[in-house]
Amino acid sequence: MMMLPDVAVKMTESLKSASVIFVLLVTALAYTGAQADSTGTTPDSPATQAETASAPAAPDTHPIFSLDHRVPGGVAVIDLGRSPTRPSVAFQNKPVLVIPDQSGGWIAIIGISLSTPAMQQSVEVKNDANSRTIHFEVQDKKYKEQRLTIKNTRQVNPNSGDLKRINTELKAQNSAYQQFTQIEPSNVIFDKPVEGPHSSSFGLKRFFNGEARAPHSGMDFAVATGTPIHAPAAGTVTLTGNYFFNGNTVFVDHGQGLITMYCHLSVIGVKVGDVLKRGQVLGQVGATGRVTGAHLHWNVSLNDARVDPAIFIGMFKP
Ligand SMILES: [Zn+2]
Repeated sequence: MMMLPDVAVKMTESLKSASVIFVLLVTALAYTGAQADSTGTTPDSPATQAETASAPAAPDTHPIFSLDHRVPGGVAVIDLGRSPTRPSVAFQNKPVLVIPDQSGGWIAIIGISLSTPAMQQSVEVKNDANSRTIHFEVQDKKYKEQRLTIKNTRQVNPNSGDLKRINTELKAQNSAYQQFTQIEPSNVIFDKPVEGPHSSSFGLKRFFNGEARAPHSGMDFAVATGTPIHAPAAGTVTLTGNYFFNGNTVFVDHGQGLITMYCHLSVIGVKVGDVLKRGQVLGQVGATGRVTGAHLHWNVSLNDARVDPAIFIGMFKP
């Protein structure tokens, strides 16, 4: 796993028992959030240094600024000012979504992973010949606990064969999240993928059968099996599969690292390479994988950081 050097080192040093492997694996899962309702103990803390320059003032009335919630699991929207060409922006060494505003300026939309420390952070901005650093402050956010009971105990403590499968599936899903295409998203303020009540929030600290696992990497909608799921923006299907935790799953790439994932489907209605229009049906809600009942689990990822989907549909709660 490219961004987990500490975990990788630990894994090579101490592959002593299935339980050790499992703990490390779930720690990795906790970091990547590749799994919808996945397992894990503690997120790591990337060694991002605070710097001393002041944060940019970015007052703006552009509707995109409604996405700006600078917390772990949130989004920072930063006005980059005007330039004739699109600046390239990197956060934690990963490329960031940049869109034009209506006046010749550019806006960076940065995903802040749950494991990002609440402190000053910075992005690197490159523009033709010159480069600069913009700082921004990430505020702390407290996420609640959630305790769930899973009847199939193998879905809480998988056996060694399961772990092999989980690891392979994790690699495929992580690589889907890491794609960065130069396509500009059709819209970054999303439509809801299903009509129905929101049942479980992003970021909940989860306990399955009393055991600590990874925080909830997306949001859930309590909707019946068979409910059609609509693409919240145009995109390309980059991965589908039937996964141990996530069940039937679809990944959609909306462009420039803005990627969404839909889990526990009863029916996958698309195939890899399909180009979806905004609103197009991609599958049906179900109860496959590790679930306590039928629902849609929906992830949103920016620059390979899983962020709160509620932000993109106007439902964010501080
Ligand atoms: Zn979920």
